[in-house]
Amino acid sequence: MIKEMVCVSCPIGCMLTVELNDQNEVLSVKGNTCKRGEQYAIDECTNPVRMLTSTVKVNGGKLPVVPVKTAKPIPKGKMFDCMQVINSTVVDAPVKMGDVLIQDICGTGIDIIATNEN
Ligand code: SF4
Repeated sequence: MIKEMVCVSCPIGCMLTVELNDQNEVLSVKGNTCKRGEQYAIDECTNPVRMLTSTVKVNGGKLPVVPVKTAKPIPKGKMFDCMQVINSTVVDAPVKMGDVLIQDICGTGIDIIATNEN
């Protein structure tokens, strides 16, 4: 199978052509200008990850919510489960930027941290 994708590792945005076998293993990557593009294609085909940004409800804060993000990119397949946890979480004010509001979300080993205060 052939997959086409744009490398987003830098602003150049090389168009990559990835050849996969029936087990979804990467056989070859073409179109990359550098090694990062090859690794991007392999990661994207075997374990795609994304940063997740959202908001968490705050009790007694200046505003009803505080913006949050994952401390690192999380597996794309866990996004929906993580959003359900984030949406059902309520924390008490005060919240400081960088506070861990949810530890090890959905068993990913990755925390949800506040990106502002409230
Ligand atoms: S392959 Fe290399 S040069 Fe091309 S977009 Fe990716 S990181 Fe940039």
